[in-house]
Amino acid sequence: MNGNALFDLAEIRAEEEREAQIKRATAALKQAGSIECEDCGGEIAETRRRAMPSATRCFDCQQRFERRLQRGR
Ligand SMILES: [Zn+2]
Repeated sequence: MNGNALFDLAEIRAEEEREAQIKRATAALKQAGSIECEDCGGEIAETRRRAMPSATRCFDCQQRFERRLQRGR
């Protein structure tokens, strides 16, 4: 016995954490096209959801978000 048992435990925990992250990402993907805007909590227009099923923000918030992304370089 050397330090490997401890290392394995850390590995397992890292693996579990990775799986949890994947699950969260999958859930977020499934939730994509949700009705509520994740920024303002307002309803996302149905036309917008149909045009862009992955939208998680209303049109206004999405524009603001993208502008923020562009500026934040
Ligand atoms: Zn919004």
